[in-house]
Amino acid sequence: MKIKIWDHARFVVNKENPYPELKAMFRLLADNGVSHIHVYLPEIRDLREYCMAAGEAGITVDAWVNPARELPNPPMRQITEEQMEEMYRTQGIRLKGPCPNHPEYKRQMLEVVGNKLADYGDVLNGIHLDFIRSINSMLAEMFPCGCDACRALRKKYFGFEMPTDKDRQMHSYIYKEHAILNRHITETVAAIHQLTVQAGKQLSMAARSDYANSADIWEKPVWGIGPAVLEGQDWADWGADGIVDAINTMNYHTNFEYFMDNMKTHLRLMEGAKAELSPGLAVQSSMGINEPDAFEKRMQAIYESGAKSLCIFCKPDTYSPEYLRIIKKYSEM
Ligand SMILES: [Zn+2]
Repeated sequence: MKIKIWDHARFVVNKENPYPELKAMFRLLADNGVSHIHVYLPEIRDLREYCMAAGEAGITVDAWVNPARELPNPPMRQITEEQMEEMYRTQGIRLKGPCPNHPEYKRQMLEVVGNKLADYGDVLNGIHLDFIRSINSMLAEMFPCGCDACRALRKKYFGFEMPTDKDRQMHSYIYKEHAILNRHITETVAAIHQLTVQAGKQLSMAARSDYANSADIWEKPVWGIGPAVLEGQDWADWGADGIVDAINTMNYHTNFEYFMDNMKTHLRLMEGAKAELSPGLAVQSSMGINEPDAFEKRMQAIYESGAKSLCIFCKPDTYSPEYLRIIKKYSEM
């Protein structure tokens, strides 16, 4: 199986001169079967230097683009301070995030991706989209965005700019809010794909683990998980239509039952899709740690699913010899 990872290069100690450490880590990873990396950009000094070091070990790299981090001036969802207080009081979080309905979202995403391809196209395998969605589904419904673009869209379709509590119960309102959000994000992804195709590069993405609904998402705090399609991340259709080339699912569960439920859903959704599915799994994430035996159990399940590739998330970006042994074993299967 092809082994991909997400990386933040958090292992680098000497930030002024990271090249030797990058080189050594990529050699170790390559020797143990890792052949592709999605690199988180805010924590690395220089993308070219990073790609060169990976390339020396035979590892390919996708530049990881997160709208909130990479857009020069992201159009943020407009929430009143009163609503933010209520969000914190009832949900324990203050979550804003860019508004994908705003025309600036698409414009700036294309600008950022275009610049990456122009500046680093010679050393990159492709672009990796992360957080290509709106904020958490439940919070978005509870606290609708009040930006100019969202207000104008509601004015057009409903005749009001901001919904009342009663409006938010109407099926027609709920449907159209989601349809508008999904359309805008899908159009942005499709336009980015045109850029990567023109550049001869791949477009990959980190996909929400929960697509529509599953047993794990309704207990508080639910804001960290899903479901994707209510957040405007209709990745099953993106994969089917081939407007992304590779989909890596963020299936980091420490509960094996949830992990399997989600993976089976992902396999079903991607049957016959144009995009490649790389089932995801985690060593360590915000959901907890999968010890080596739990990690191996997941690797085995992915292997048995018939997947040709997988993608590993490991928060500290370092792998102990036990994990490396497992990774190497499955890279050779
Ligand atoms: Zn908005």
